[in-house]
Amino acid sequence: MCGKKLKTSHGITTEESDFFDGLPDDLVVFILCKLSASASSPSDFINIFLTCKRLNRLGLHPLVLSKAGPKAFAIKANNWCDSAQRFLKQCVNAGNVEASYILGMIRFYCLQNRGSGASLMAKAAIKSHAPSLYSLAVIQFNGSGASKSDKDLKAGVALCARAAYLGHIDALRELGHCLQDGYGVRQNIAEGRRLLVQANARELASVLRSASWGPNNYQCLTLTGSSPLSFPLLSDFGCSLPAPEFHPANLFLRDWFGSGRGVLAPRLRLCGHVGCGRPETRPHEFRRCSVCGVVNYCSRGCQALDWKLRHKAHCRPIERWLEDDVAGDDAVDGDVDGVGEII
Ligand SMILES: [Zn+2]
Ligand SMILES: [Zn+2]
Repeated sequence: MCGKKLKTSHGITTEESDFFDGLPDDLVVFILCKLSASASSPSDFINIFLTCKRLNRLGLHPLVLSKAGPKAFAIKANNWCDSAQRFLKQCVNAGNVEASYILGMIRFYCLQNRGSGASLMAKAAIKSHAPSLYSLAVIQFNGSGASKSDKDLKAGVALCARAAYLGHIDALRELGHCLQDGYGVRQNIAEGRRLLVQANARELASVLRSASWGPNNYQCLTLTGSSPLSFPLLSDFGCSLPAPEFHPANLFLRDWFGSGRGVLAPRLRLCGHVGCGRPETRPHEFRRCSVCGVVNYCSRGCQALDWKLRHKAHCRPIERWLEDDVAGDDAVDGDVDGVGEII
């Protein structure tokens, strides 16, 4: 950054002082930490590096990389490349739990590098990163990446409980269903229902708190049965809300398989919930809707969410057993236990 010759009103030529060059590195790093934490897209973050040599050097400071928030890693599946993976790894090495989680999910589900993916998620989970704890719970519930006999329901419930304690709404909902159904934990219907109501209440609170929910949006909070753009999750409270934001890791998975960048192996299916994107790692891994038998879900939480979000309107009982090969694997799979009317 060069000084520029300026002419004052008195006609005296003077040198423009460059305040940026005078700022100490510590202060610039502090400002960059704030910027990386609040970046609303990867380009917000990358633009820091492109500005000048000094910002490129300081932008890659481990402190700055460690503070980047999830939206800074919202990479599109079509933009996935070695350098994106290297950058995420650099952030992981700097101690960024979001990078650890997103790279873990991508390696586990998209690149099928299960060991490395799970250990990256575990690295974030140890630091109390709730989405990582919840995703590891889903892996334990399904025995993902291994065989059906490797399911560990108790471990799944324990991970879910920890994530729910940290305020993760999907984990709270999942835990509520586990308690209600006695799945991996002693059945306690009253406590399960209490957690499900709590999950809905927290969801309402988080949508009301979100940045996109300005004072002018209150008119969107309409009575149930309104516009198709609303999110009828909170019908229990008699109102609908705009659709919530999904985590960049889930959006990446959905894009990866939806755009054709990643191809699912034959007989494997994606979770039917639009905000999930998890694929099966073996045939018949996910539970399916017991009424229509055509949609599959990675978890009770996803099943319950999708039921309220859209499946309730499309689910129709069909004579699917006539179409299935009764002697085949489909008929003997124990995972077939769906929902009807659920919270
Ligand atoms: Zn799911
Ligand atoms: Zn159905």
